[in-house]
Amino acid sequence: MKNIKNYLLNKLFFPKVAVIDQPGIIYNVLSRRYGHVSSKKRIVFLFEDMFAEIQKEAIAQLGKEKASELFYKIGKDFGVSFMLLGKAKKVPSFVLPEVMEFIADNFRGGGFSIAENIDVDIKQNIITFSGKNNVICRKTADPSFFAGGAAGILSLLLGKNVEAVSKCCNCPNECKVIAKADLPSKYIPDVNKLMPDKNYGQLNFPKDVESMDHLASFGKFMRFKKIKISVSGKFQLNGFAIFPAPSQITCLIMKHFEEIGRRDILNEALFRSSDKILDTLSKEFPEVKDKIKIITSLILALGWGIPDCQKKGEIIKFYIRYPPFNKSGFHYQALQLNAFLSSVFKKKLKLVELKSQENPPLLKLTYSF
Ligand SMILES: [Zn+2]
Repeated sequence: MKNIKNYLLNKLFFPKVAVIDQPGIIYNVLSRRYGHVSSKKRIVFLFEDMFAEIQKEAIAQLGKEKASELFYKIGKDFGVSFMLLGKAKKVPSFVLPEVMEFIADNFRGGGFSIAENIDVDIKQNIITFSGKNNVICRKTADPSFFAGGAAGILSLLLGKNVEAVSKCCNCPNECKVIAKADLPSKYIPDVNKLMPDKNYGQLNFPKDVESMDHLASFGKFMRFKKIKISVSGKFQLNGFAIFPAPSQITCLIMKHFEEIGRRDILNEALFRSSDKILDTLSKEFPEVKDKIKIITSLILALGWGIPDCQKKGEIIKFYIRYPPFNKSGFHYQALQLNAFLSSVFKKKLKLVELKSQENPPLLKLTYSF
């Protein structure tokens, strides 16, 4: 039994390599020992405060139950798309505990301490995740995003629909999610829609990017201690926690808010939290040009592409090379950048143009006052 397990595990997965030294492009690679399959995921870092603010605003405006439902759906779509990106397939249930440990380890490294302890009851197909001080729900007291994420991941691993329930009753001291197959279905993600694009790899992992050592990168931020790892294992940028996720996450957030016709909630929360974050980061740099520089460094260090900003009169243009490509486009990125710019100029700007092209990969965003 033990040998089969080892064989399967070795065959299924391999050490993760994260590439963080390239400006604007962060990814991780999982390769398999046997065969030639490897999977690469384009990663972006998000501010915990922004995500938490979006969720809190949703709770305030939609009520706790509706908001939890929404974040459960976002999480389940995310879990499924995470597995599809990793080319994951159904696994025999006797290796499930090891496979879950492996996947959880990926998440723990990003501050998702709800994946600290995993208990798998193979016979009953019940999987319990628990931990303390989990990123996001320690601020919102609502782990529905993680419940959805666990349900999505397990649905693909078990080859049948899995649902999960949030059991955080004392965040941040006790965070808990329980997942189980054969519960009445709450939400079934559309696997076809969540499949990565055919040209996902080609667009997101460009081969001949010229060397840009003079620009900021996640690795450089770590070396210069602008990004640190806290005692509880979270990445911190000037005191703000940031967490990594495949870039699809932003499209899923946008999609679900648009589906219920409440993009205003997202706007409100992003503008408010971006303003707070940029104010803190630019405390000693009141000038507009310095603040713009902080924004471009953030884009580079957090994996959102390689930006160039041009301001002419009432118009601000951003050309972002090698942005994280998704089939659902760049609406979240455009909104996020708008929120930061509005914080710089202390007035809301208007997005007047959003254009993207694949060859060479480029996103053009134009805002006006
Ligand atoms: Zn919690």
